This record gives sequence, structure tokens and C-alpha cells, in this order.
Amino acid sequence: MNWRKGFYGVAVAAVLTIITAMQLQSKQQTILTQVNSEKWPFSLPALPFSYDALEPAIDAKTVDIHYSRHHKAYVDALNKALAGTKWSGYRLEELFAVADTLPPAIRNNSGGHWNHTFYWNCIRSPMANPGPSKKMLTLLEKNFGSFEEFKAKFKETGVTEFGSGWAWLVVKPDGSLALYASNDQANPLTEKLGKPILACDVWEHAYYLKYLNRRDEYMDAFWNVVNWQRVEELLDSAVSLPQPK
Ligand code: MN
Repeated sequence: MNWRKGFYGVAVAAVLTIITAMQLQSKQQTILTQVNSEKWPFSLPALPFSYDALEPAIDAKTVDIHYSRHHKAYVDALNKALAGTKWSGYRLEELFAVADTLPPAIRNNSGGHWNHTFYWNCIRSPMANPGPSKKMLTLLEKNFGSFEEFKAKFKETGVTEFGSGWAWLVVKPDGSLALYASNDQANPLTEKLGKPILACDVWEHAYYLKYLNRRDEYMDAFWNVVNWQRVEELLDSAVSLPQPK
């Protein structure tokens, strides 16, 4: 009977969607875990989605160039800069803890490698992309007034960052959420501001092919690719860490 075939078809599609979502989650966790445990020589992590997965918010050509040229260039330059130095046995977070003392080539490229891995880890396809959970929404409302106000402030943080940089949502040691803009390849870890849970790359190379100089339009489209499930996982792991006394 047709209705039965239809029912099975829908059930199979639902199961496949759930499996795909679970695979996406685990790939995104994997790249961040991988980059956090790596030491020299560092490697370019596998992109957790295809180049065209973020269409139409972020176009395939931009993702291709951003990942295979820009991100790769940071990894290659970091390996070159670290070779034979006393820092070659350091993990990235250990480098960030002493960021002030690092030569610029190591500081910039270590941030470049980690920040890009973090960016890929917290975005996903806009197809059937669920928004923030009730718990996440409540927390955003508590810290920023409303979800709309949070989005407006996050956008303002990125749009007003002069030149190249990043917009971040961080969990501070007291458990509150805060917004922060970093310049070049600095991040909340190099600045010791808290644990990042969401990042938007606002360097021109992240949007220029599609949006030209319209950074604000890129940031509006960014909401379609935010992986809120991943943001919440990062939040949970950040707040469960021992807090400084
Ligand atoms: Mn970038």
C-alpha cells in the first residue's frame, strides 16, 4: 500500500538525517580535540563538511580558498616558524598561555591555525539547522536581554572590529557570557578572557568573494550556519571545568 511505502520512506529519511547529524557533530568535536592535542609538526584538520555545505550563506569557492589556501598557509607557516625552537614541544594552548613572549610568526600562525579550526568546528550546513535550545536561549536572554539583542551585539562586535579580526562569544570564569573582538589572529585564550564557544571570522578573505565589502551582510547570513548544538556542547564543557579561585 502506498501510505505504508510513504511511511517507511519518511522513517528511513528521518533515521538518515539523524545519523548524518551525529556524524557531523562527531567530526566537529574531532577536529577541535585533534588541534588541542597536537604538537609540532601540526597538520591541516579535515574539513567537517563539503565546500558547498554552507551555501547559500557562505559560498563554496570562499570555503575552498579559506580552508585549502588560508588555513593551510597558517599551518605551514607555523611549522616553519616553530622548527628547532624551544616551543616546538608545546601544544597550541600552551603557546597561547605565553603568547606575549612569542615571536610574531609563531604567535600569529598558532592563532591562525587554532582560530580557523575553531570556526569550522562551530558552523554547519544551513539545511534543517536547528536554532539554539531552550536552555541556550534562556542563557542568552539572561546575559544580553534577548536573542535578538545578542545577535545585534555580536554583529556590532564583528562589524566594528577595525581591519582583520574575529568576533567571539566567551564563557567567563564566573560562568557569565561575554562578547569580544580580537585583532588579527589573537583569541580569547591568548587574551586570557575566558573559554570561546562561538567565533565568526571577520577577515575579508572570509566573505569578500560573495559579499565584497559588506561585512554586515555576511554577519547576518552567519546566523544560518551557526551550529548551536556544538556551541552548547562547548558551553557545557567550559562551565564544568574547575574555575579559578
Ligand atoms: Mn580566515
